[in-house]
Amino acid sequence: MPGYDYDLFIVGAGSGGVRAATMAASQGIRVAIAEERHLGGTCVNLGCIPKKLLAYASQFKAEFEAAAGFGWMLGETSFNWSRLIANKNAEVERLHAVYQNRLHKSGVTILNGKAKLLDAHTLAVGDFQYRAERILMATGDWPFVPEMVGNQYIVTSNDMIFLDSLPERIIIVGGGYIAVEFASILNGLGVDTTLCHRGPKLLEGFDTDICDFLADAMTQQGIHVLFNTDVETIERAGNEFAVRLLDSHTMTTDLVMYATGRIPNSAGLGLEGLGVKLDDQGAIIVNSDYQTNLTSVYALGDVTDRVNLTPVAIAEAEAFVSRLYTHRPQPVDYDNIPTAVFCQPNIACVGLTEAEARQQYPDIDIYTTDFKPLKNTLSGKNEKTLMKMIVSRSTDRVVGMHMIGADAPEIIQGMAVAIRAGATKAIFDTTIGIHPTAAEEFVSLHKSS
Ligand code: FAD
Repeated sequence: MPGYDYDLFIVGAGSGGVRAATMAASQGIRVAIAEERHLGGTCVNLGCIPKKLLAYASQFKAEFEAAAGFGWMLGETSFNWSRLIANKNAEVERLHAVYQNRLHKSGVTILNGKAKLLDAHTLAVGDFQYRAERILMATGDWPFVPEMVGNQYIVTSNDMIFLDSLPERIIIVGGGYIAVEFASILNGLGVDTTLCHRGPKLLEGFDTDICDFLADAMTQQGIHVLFNTDVETIERAGNEFAVRLLDSHTMTTDLVMYATGRIPNSAGLGLEGLGVKLDDQGAIIVNSDYQTNLTSVYALGDVTDRVNLTPVAIAEAEAFVSRLYTHRPQPVDYDNIPTAVFCQPNIACVGLTEAEARQQYPDIDIYTTDFKPLKNTLSGKNEKTLMKMIVSRSTDRVVGMHMIGADAPEIIQGMAVAIRAGATKAIFDTTIGIHPTAAEEFVSLHKSS
């Protein structure tokens, strides 16, 4: 298009931005992408990947303990946090190179620096200005830390994955997936862990049976789980911190982590000055084509604060590019998005919770099973697995599946395909199980209510 340096200018090289850039460039579109930190965005640098590597590290201690029941006599073991972080950093560096290659090979121009909108078609990156026909904001989100006395001492998930050394004790504030994942990681690595949540249940929005089961499992593992409380102040006391709770009870700890939500990265982008509409939390408001009220400006991924997951940001990027630049639009189906929490035990689910299903369907049947997995017969571990299936009685369609137990995310990923395909309970019942597995329980569930 004459007068423009690029057809598409993308701000943010995270999950959504990179996918949109490479896919658009493969259609012959002239694409530039600006990134102020590291290629790969939150998922690669601060989220999914480093977090899961740490979660793997945290599981070895329990495995070593379980090994004796299977005849393994281990010598003394020790854990080196610095080595873990160095290895994790090396893997993240490798991924940077993969992303850089992918963008280069697709012909995308990479601009390092913070981008800001100057008008509907012009952006500044450092001292340079660029004009583009369309602009896509894929700037993600950032941890929220509340205003309070002592909040300068707080660390977030961003800091946790780069800590110089492990604390002996930690208080984690929050009850969402990042809080419970980090509580499991730290507890697994031998840190005396307290989880402090202002609500009555962990993991708001998940099925209640799963949330209750998790709280019990965490408590059994030695995590101190505190409900209905919040931190009032944090004070430094020598090398430790005095954390005062709302009920005036004070705890001492070596580190305080907050995982109390994330806010969209929409400030300082020049959006407000151009009248781009944001919601109360700062999320960019878009229509079903990811277009803002300023027609040349689009947004997707976490900055729009809808379903904040990497595969969703990628799917939105594909929908955005296919809609504008190909003849084969691939809209995102926001129903039945499977999700996982990499706490211990792992959680995964797809479809409706029991509470949601009761609101949407006149009659539902609930099938649950909880059992001690075969591995735990010899491991000496008491931990059980819980599985739950929700079925619409009138149609026999399976409308929700939930699991907490080993490998839940790997199992539920497959179940998500069945749910999307509209599988009925009868289909599950006539599917032959794979024995002996935990997953076979999903094809032999009997009604429990
Ligand atoms: P991001 O990946 O956040 O990318 C945005 C990019 O924009 C960043 O690189 C940022 O530096 C850049 N940027 C911002 N402003 C500017 C500017 N003005 N100029 C230039 N660049 C800019 N999701 C899962 O699916 N599974 C998980 O297990 C999972 N675990 C997570 C664990 C943690 C601790 C966190 C924090 C998140 C996790 N997520 C997980 C969520 C996932 O990381 C995000 O949903 C995903 O990264 C969103 O992609 P995005 O493209 O919208 O934004």
